[in-house]
Amino acid sequence: MPPVNAPYRPEGLLARPLYARVDAGAVAHNLARLRAALPAAGAPRLWATVKADAYGHGLARVLPALREADGLAVLHLDEARACRRLGWDGPILVYGGLYSQADTLLLDSPHLHLVITHAAQLQWLAQAPAAERPAVWLRFAGDIHHTGFCADDYRAAFALARELSGRGLISEVGHLNHYARADEADGVAQADARFRDVIAGLPGPVSTSNSAAMLGHAARAAATQWVRPGLALYGASPFAECSAAGLGLLPAMSLHSQVVGIQRVRAGAGVGYSAAFIAPTAMDVGIVTCGYADGYPRHAPTGTPVVVAGARTRLLGRVSMDMMAVDLGPVPQAAIGAPVTLWGADGLPVEEVALAAGTIAAQLLTGLSARVPVALAGAR
Ligand SMILES: *Cc1c(COP(=O)(O)O)cnc(C)c1O
Repeated sequence: MPPVNAPYRPEGLLARPLYARVDAGAVAHNLARLRAALPAAGAPRLWATVKADAYGHGLARVLPALREADGLAVLHLDEARACRRLGWDGPILVYGGLYSQADTLLLDSPHLHLVITHAAQLQWLAQAPAAERPAVWLRFAGDIHHTGFCADDYRAAFALARELSGRGLISEVGHLNHYARADEADGVAQADARFRDVIAGLPGPVSTSNSAAMLGHAARAAATQWVRPGLALYGASPFAECSAAGLGLLPAMSLHSQVVGIQRVRAGAGVGYSAAFIAPTAMDVGIVTCGYADGYPRHAPTGTPVVVAGARTRLLGRVSMDMMAVDLGPVPQAAIGAPVTLWGADGLPVEEVALAAGTIAAQLLTGLSARVPVALAGAR
């Protein structure tokens, strides 16, 4: 029996003509582009963020393209183990740190760096039979207030961490902040000043910058010891006003399908569930096999851009589980089998689709569903 999620076959033998294409060469290019945003001398080291299965691209697919990174950053220790299984023996930063005392049993390889977000995690480390001594990064709650120590608690946490390091239980103590508004021109100055105030005089390396901070606030990123880009590695722009192409980034994922049906509808006819689109005139509607069960956003409205046979057109009505309808008006020549690009190629950035759907590129990329076969493009 053929596998359900069959691998993409270049000869076009997919049972269903929907697939994603992941270009590891683009990831390598984007990594080099991000490095170029840092100063030539004394540049910070770079954690390549590969949480959420490398933002939906597949950790195993992109890891070979990240050989030049100084470290990988993941959410939790099982992801760190997956990196080890794939042969990565360099540093790994774990954003979520420890969720319980039991997690300390997973500290079984060298060069692990844990982000510490509350004091109990330090107590767990103090009681751990850890064979390996992790490095820790104290996270400041900053202006995002997701996790981490507030200004009043930060120095006490630092003192506790130093004590653990004095007892040989951890290897070093760093300082980490994550901005809430790094994509805005005035989004980091105050937040960085507050953070610098909190850590003033404390020894240890500093890490503050995600993709938006690296590309939009390069001087501040350059003044740290480690940067932590994610999204930009996969070729999406973190900025509303600036395209990925304008930033010199290449999309690493594209999503492709075909027209699998054509409906000629009369004026006044409804298209799709709830008749959310009513044809204003007689028109040709293409049915594309891709729906929300594939990770395409159900809330994408009429007008969301789609490319059919190389030309831009638009989504019509509700996205359903397995299919969507598109306007064939701009592509009257399109027949059944016409190629469709849903994002990431043919001049249709994933950011643009995300914007039309009221979301962001990272949600679409990480949301690609497991039923979509993935073709891996060769390294550049
Ligand atoms: C996900 C994450 C990053 C990477 O952010 P991008 O915006 O994708 O570059 C960096 N730091 C932390 C703490 C994160 O959780």
